[in-house]
Amino acid sequence: MKVEEKGKDIINRIKQAAARSGRTPDEINVVAVTKYVSNERAQEAVEAGFNHLGENRFEGLTEKQASLSGSVKWHFIGSLQSRKVKDVINRIDYLHSLDRLSLAKEINKRAHKTVECFVQVNVSGEVQKHGLAPQNVLNFIEQLSIYDKIKVVGLMTMAPDTEDEQVLRKCFKDLSRLKDEIHRHRYQNAPCTELSMGMSNDYEIAIEEGATFVRIGSALVGE
Ligand SMILES: *Cc1c(COP(=O)(O)O)cnc(C)c1O
Repeated sequence: MKVEEKGKDIINRIKQAAARSGRTPDEINVVAVTKYVSNERAQEAVEAGFNHLGENRFEGLTEKQASLSGSVKWHFIGSLQSRKVKDVINRIDYLHSLDRLSLAKEINKRAHKTVECFVQVNVSGEVQKHGLAPQNVLNFIEQLSIYDKIKVVGLMTMAPDTEDEQVLRKCFKDLSRLKDEIHRHRYQNAPCTELSMGMSNDYEIAIEEGATFVRIGSALVGE
C-alpha cells in the first residue's frame, strides 16, 4: 500500500484518539520512522506530508539526508554512542535518547547550537531497555543545567512489547505524570512540555495518554 493511503488512515486514527481524550490533533506530531525502508519509500512519506523523519543510526541518517528532498525535521531516535556525537549532533533537530551525563557533556562540547532533547526513561524497568529509572529523572535534569546547549523539551519512552492495553496505558500515564512534575519546576533548561511515546502498535493509546510525538515506522512506511 502507498504511504499516502496508510498515512490517511493513521491521521484519522490520531484524530479519533485525540477526540476521545479531549485533545486537539494539532498538538500531535508524527515522526515517520524510516530506519527500515529505502530512500524512495522515505521520500514518499515526505510527499504525503510527513516532514518529521526518524532514524536510529548515523549511517541511515546520512544516507537519507543525502538523498531526500523537501524540508524535513530530523529526529535521532536510537541510542547514541558518545563517539558518534560529533558526527550526528549537528545534523539533527531532535534527539530522543538522552540517557546519561557523559552523553550530555559530549553533546555540549560538539553542538554548534542548542539541541532539543528528550530524556529517555525506562518506565517499565525492563533490563534490556535504555533510559533512566523514573525516580532518577528529576535529579538528572537538574544536573543538565550546566550544559547550555541542551534543552530538555520532553520525555521519551519505549513501552514494553506487549498487547496488554492496561500495561501500555500505565506506562504512558506514568511518563505523562513525570513530565508534568518536571514541567511544574519551571527549569530554565527543561520546559519539558512534550511526550515522545507510542509506536505502530500502541500510538492510539499513547495519544489518549498525552503523547505529542508518536514515532511510527512499520504502520506508515512498511510494505
Ligand atoms: C523502530 C522504532 C520505532 C518505530 O517502530 P514501529 O513499531 O515500526 O512503529 C519507534 N521508536 C523507536 C525508538 C524505534 O527504534
